[in-house]
Amino acid sequence: MSHVFHRNSNNLPPIGMKGDGVYLYDTDGKAYFDGSGGAAVSCLGHGDQDIINAIKRQLDSMAFAHTGFLGSQPAEDLADLLVKHAPESLEHVYFVSGGSEAVEAALKLARQYFVEIGQSQRSKIIARRQSYHGNTLGALAVGGNEWRRAQFAPLLIDVSHIGPCYEYRNRRAEETSFEYGQRVANELEEEILRLGPDQVMAFIAEPVVGATMGAVPSVEGYFKRIREICDTYGVLLILDEVMCGMGRTGTLFAAEQEEISPDICTIAKGLGAGYQPIGATLCSGEIFNTIKNGSGFFQHGHTYIGHPTACSAGLAVVQKLTQGGVVEHVTAKGQQLLDLLQQEFGRHPNVGDIRGRGLFVGMEFVADRGRKAVIDPCHKFNSRLKAAAFDAGLICYPMGGTIDGRHGDHVLLAPPFISETHHLEEVVSKLATAVRKVTAELG
Ligand code: PLP
Repeated sequence: MSHVFHRNSNNLPPIGMKGDGVYLYDTDGKAYFDGSGGAAVSCLGHGDQDIINAIKRQLDSMAFAHTGFLGSQPAEDLADLLVKHAPESLEHVYFVSGGSEAVEAALKLARQYFVEIGQSQRSKIIARRQSYHGNTLGALAVGGNEWRRAQFAPLLIDVSHIGPCYEYRNRRAEETSFEYGQRVANELEEEILRLGPDQVMAFIAEPVVGATMGAVPSVEGYFKRIREICDTYGVLLILDEVMCGMGRTGTLFAAEQEEISPDICTIAKGLGAGYQPIGATLCSGEIFNTIKNGSGFFQHGHTYIGHPTACSAGLAVVQKLTQGGVVEHVTAKGQQLLDLLQQEFGRHPNVGDIRGRGLFVGMEFVADRGRKAVIDPCHKFNSRLKAAAFDAGLICYPMGGTIDGRHGDHVLLAPPFISETHHLEEVVSKLATAVRKVTAELG
């Protein structure tokens, strides 16, 4: 019996032994194509010697120093590099150990900013249904996935949730995509007015939704209108790029493709690429300088903030991502993956939608394409798909959550950026094997 407290205590995973390129191997030597990079983490694949050597060098010189006493060169260099490539408003970087921590820091930073400018009445947060921002209590509260939130609801701070930008299900027949995007963005304005414009502190959203709906980009113009509304009412815009950032969608920051700049942005996952746990909260000069020239102290911190070894891994990763056309490769390969999925599943009776941006691609499964009816949850489609894909040697990320956050079946593919055409063909072929198996069982 394992003494590890696995999340799923009745279905223990095999022990992983080795990672090499796009593959992971278990102790029996079985190979798994890492088709979702775990959960959009392993963007540069496994066994990258440049990153490993950067970590080793840092371990040899100074593994750790508490930032209350000493800073570190990797943290300085990584912050410089991120700011150099970030949307223009983002000028400072607060390093943490993962995505939920980055979101917690973002929320507290927003709150402290308003306290320091004398608007301490601003404490309300608006977020979106069907979003995921992490599992710590603050991050879970802003998240909109009912399945994850339900049993913890009494512990969560009160957050308003507006609808997501989810064209496949919610655009009306008489609307263009653009009109649809403006209509759902305007829900933010309605909610700000309902809560009282001087009460609202921040709006948080994922530029491309990941962990609840399997890669859903917004429609053109949606985020520009969101930015406009936030500016009108002095509400801070927090973009959560924990999953979709760091080149995943074809630009280092997903916000670049929306042609907007947030006030705060969270990143993690691809930042450490799985070699070290690291996340970061980037903020505007306005927020940073307000605190610097005010109390001078951000009232938040964990022991491992700015961990030098984690930052050395992040630095090696972002150096790779910003040199040598890696993210351009993502755009080209992402299109190829979408095309391959269209060829394989475009007419499949149980595939309603194929979507994504860059190597961040999702498919939504339905009982009936015409009516877009969800598959009865009693079939446990997404967990069976995960198991069937795993048997076929593919790690992908099936998930539930369509209409009220509980029902609906999606799969997220987020293969490593080093994937070539034959790798993508392998992913699609293994996924097809798994889908065939599970849909045959549906009858
Ligand atoms: N934000 C988003 C958009 C995520 O997708 C996730 C994780 O999937 C998180 C935050 C939480 O990150 P972590 O699991 O590293 O705490």
